[in-house]
Amino acid sequence: MAIPIPSRQLFIDGQWTEPILKKRIPIINPSTEEIIGVCRSSYPFAFARLLLQLCLVWACAWLNPLGLPPGRWQGGVGGFVLDDVAGCFEYYADLAEGLDAKQKAPLSIPMDSFKSYVLKEPIGVVGLITPWNYPLLMATWKVAPALAAGCAAILKPSELASITCLELADVCREVGLPPGVLNILTGLGPEAGAPLAIHPHVDKIAFTGSTATGSKIMAAAAQLVKPVSLELGGKSPIVIFEDVDLDKAAEWTAFGCFWTNGQICSATSRLIVHESIAAEFLDKLVKWIKNIKISDPLEEGCRLGPVVSGGQYEKVLNFISTAKSEGATILTGGARPEHQKKGFFIEPTLIADVTTSMQIWREEVFGPVLCVKTFSSEDEAIELANDTHYGLGAAVISKDLERCERLAKALQAGIVWINCSQPCFTQAPWGGTKRSGFGRELGEWGLDNYLSVKQVTQYIADEPWGWYKSPSKL
Ligand code: NAD
Repeated sequence: MAIPIPSRQLFIDGQWTEPILKKRIPIINPSTEEIIGVCRSSYPFAFARLLLQLCLVWACAWLNPLGLPPGRWQGGVGGFVLDDVAGCFEYYADLAEGLDAKQKAPLSIPMDSFKSYVLKEPIGVVGLITPWNYPLLMATWKVAPALAAGCAAILKPSELASITCLELADVCREVGLPPGVLNILTGLGPEAGAPLAIHPHVDKIAFTGSTATGSKIMAAAAQLVKPVSLELGGKSPIVIFEDVDLDKAAEWTAFGCFWTNGQICSATSRLIVHESIAAEFLDKLVKWIKNIKISDPLEEGCRLGPVVSGGQYEKVLNFISTAKSEGATILTGGARPEHQKKGFFIEPTLIADVTTSMQIWREEVFGPVLCVKTFSSEDEAIELANDTHYGLGAAVISKDLERCERLAKALQAGIVWINCSQPCFTQAPWGGTKRSGFGRELGEWGLDNYLSVKQVTQYIADEPWGWYKSPSKL
């Protein structure tokens, strides 16, 4: 039985405000699949407004599991994370309005006796399972398009970083989102996440996290033929050709791997450099790396904070020690910085003399560790770059733009950066190939993740269909 929910207006800036399009979308109780009320596709606008206001309130250390310097996670100039969160809600509110306008657009079909159009409908109740890095932003990449599509959502943030996601609950209440539209469940993966994948009333799972967990979720969801979209790990390459400006290339190389301590799925953590410039380039790169300020993220000028946890700290140091024991050479870094006696600090590390069978070349570290190999031809560079089970990001640095475009086609990755590494825009699709997953977040593709496409075809001719002989004429 439907639970009565008052039909409200939007609550923006303390006022109940009539939405522009005055359209309503069903709210589904995740336990019963019953429609329990309606909400409006303009909710993401209200989220965006409120989140922007909350940026200042949230500018405190618990927002910051990546150890990012303040400018990176506060709003304001140079601030990426919270601006991106609010911007993402605004972006999907716009797309939702555009979606309403596109409903029932006629299709061109080759028979005059029929007309056909498409409805894009909310996929239903969606389970959103997210990781600990950029916890609020990763949740927003799913929550904003899911609400914009008209879905009811259950967000399961990482047990390592749930606090900012829980703050979304207050935002829901402030903007008057009816109960049940966005639910936030915290807890361990197997206890709080796994039941979502297997639950018959959850219609889709959108997951961001490790490839190992993604594979378990896919297997569980397969039992009910439940759709999944997976944003998984990476071991992304950065290819440096012989014609580059060495300093510019060195800075992008350092940024591509170390700007969030390597704790980003798309970190370009395999450096592939032309052999003719390798010695000079690595020399410069070591100087750039040694110049990175490592400190408490709240300290002025910090460019590298601690890794997220004691467990991650041990894991990263183990990767480095395995690389050494397999015969690799540490060109710089490799240990705790001497001036940081406490905290999970690891120096940005560059590792050479690497073979393609070594663990450091093959496995995602998710820490500040870059390994390097050289190449002699474009074909060899492509082969090395694609020598991975992953396929999330890839970067190419060269003054020869035709060559860059050739590589953009040849690299097996969902995202290719030319003459840079890591920029990410809400408007552009984000996601991987191979074991980095499938499906795309952000942009219009992010909204499609939560929509189901329904074809409606109508017979419009006056004459009977005429396939069978009419009994009245017998
Ligand atoms: P993780 O796989 O350990 O956990 C991710 C989420 O899954 C958490 O909420 C966790 O509780 C949950 N979970 C764990 N076991 C589960 C199970 N059996 N069933 C359902 N849910 C379960 O990943 P993490 O350590 O939080 O995040 C780091 C990983 O995420 C890295 O591999 C990184 O590359 C990846 N990542 C990918 C992207 C991307 O866009 N491709 C973005 C960020 C992070």
